[in-house]
Amino acid sequence: MWKYLTANAAVFFIIFSVHLFGRRPAQIGVLCLMVLGAALALFGKAVDPFAWFFYTVFSMVIFLGAFQFRRWSLAESIAMDEELDQYTRKVKSAEAVLEEKKEEADEIRRRANAIAHLYETIQEISKSLDSFEAFVVFGQALYNHFEFSAVTAAFFDGESLNPREPSEVFRLAPPDFSGVFDKTAFLKDKEKYKIVPAAFERKIFEAVFKDQRPLNTVDPMSDTTRSPIRLWPDFKPFAAYPIFIEGRIFSILVLSGVTEEHFQALSILSQRLISEMQRIRLYQKIQTLAITDGLTGVSVRRYWMERFEGELARSRKLRLKLSLLMIDIDNFKKFNDLYGHLVGDAVLKQVADTLKKNIREIDLVGRYGGEEFAVLLIETDESVAFFVAERIRRAVQERIIRAYDENLQVTLSIGCTTLSNALKDATVLIDAADAGLYQAKREGKNRVCFHTGLSTL
Ligand code: GH3
Ligand code: MG
Ligand code: MG
Repeated sequence: MWKYLTANAAVFFIIFSVHLFGRRPAQIGVLCLMVLGAALALFGKAVDPFAWFFYTVFSMVIFLGAFQFRRWSLAESIAMDEELDQYTRKVKSAEAVLEEKKEEADEIRRRANAIAHLYETIQEISKSLDSFEAFVVFGQALYNHFEFSAVTAAFFDGESLNPREPSEVFRLAPPDFSGVFDKTAFLKDKEKYKIVPAAFERKIFEAVFKDQRPLNTVDPMSDTTRSPIRLWPDFKPFAAYPIFIEGRIFSILVLSGVTEEHFQALSILSQRLISEMQRIRLYQKIQTLAITDGLTGVSVRRYWMERFEGELARSRKLRLKLSLLMIDIDNFKKFNDLYGHLVGDAVLKQVADTLKKNIREIDLVGRYGGEEFAVLLIETDESVAFFVAERIRRAVQERIIRAYDENLQVTLSIGCTTLSNALKDATVLIDAADAGLYQAKREGKNRVCFHTGLSTL
């Protein structure tokens, strides 16, 4: 009897423990063993079936009791575990979001700094009245913020017959900007940055002229037909921007060795430089128009007088020589009457052209009156002035002027004078040159007369 009781107690304890702490397979295994035992007992008739039935029902009660007890005792901790899991997951996703936001904030801060610097640069460029100066300031801004191997500006507004032949090409590279940035040093050494464009650069210019629009190898959206560019020798990723004035390209800006990452910011900055360069060029054009005579291309009288006064003051202060020529076309009235005003205009134009060709760049020709020109010869004494006047007179006399199917020849009378102690005011000098001119007319025209002013004193 005691043996049965002990065995039963052990069996119930095992069943209870398995249900309480065991895993699902163990629980199912014990349940199966119980059902098997009950079946054996029923059909085997080895023991009293009633006792086994009672025994089995009791086992089931123990099993369910253990099951309920387990649910009840673990419910709270399971719920807590689940809650903890949920919180951990939430915290982790919040951390990820926070990290993302931090990166975004950093990126925004970086961009804001870059924009602030670009803004400053743009302000600086907008103060320039010279294309090269604007270009230097632009190069310096690039140096501080971007990777590039060179920035090149080509200008196409020279005297060359081929409008696609650059008159000047400047190239700046990062080493040019190392050290303290000194704009005036750049402007002083402008010639140092002048280059003869490489074959690669010439090809870029040609392509931009052909397409009449920006060209780049950086933007992935760029036209695929341009892929042969990548086969050019010395290929480097680049972006080239044409700068238009009144519908024609006057300059091309090339950024080479630029990276895809910086491309967008560089494009924005370049656009700004382009519009500033356009502004500068238009300003210079207006300036030139205001001081240039429309018909002959020499200075207008007002501007010539301003320059004359300036040069006179400088020459007196530094005790430099200064000579003045007053030039008048002979018998021009008859010319006009005979061939008409249009032919007269063409003659005026070609005489002015001959004048310009026979003086130096620093000398200044002005249209003083209808068919009267004044020439200022800087740092020139009387003998050289007389020589230059003679050269001009002869050049005009020998030139065959072609105007509207007419082949014409004109002559000049020239009055010449030089700055001296007796002649040091602008009006006195002009009067002396005029006196020389009238003397030349009186003596038969087509000649040069030097006037010292002494006879008028
Ligand atoms: P002189 O040898 O004494 O100088 O004789 P001239 O006929 O040249 O005399 P003058 O200097 O008095 O004549 C100036 C003429 O130049 C008068 C005018 O018909 C002409 N003229 C002035 N300005 C222009 C212009 O812009 N175009 C044309 N076609 N003719 C002009
Ligand atoms: Mg005259
Ligand atoms: Mg005349």
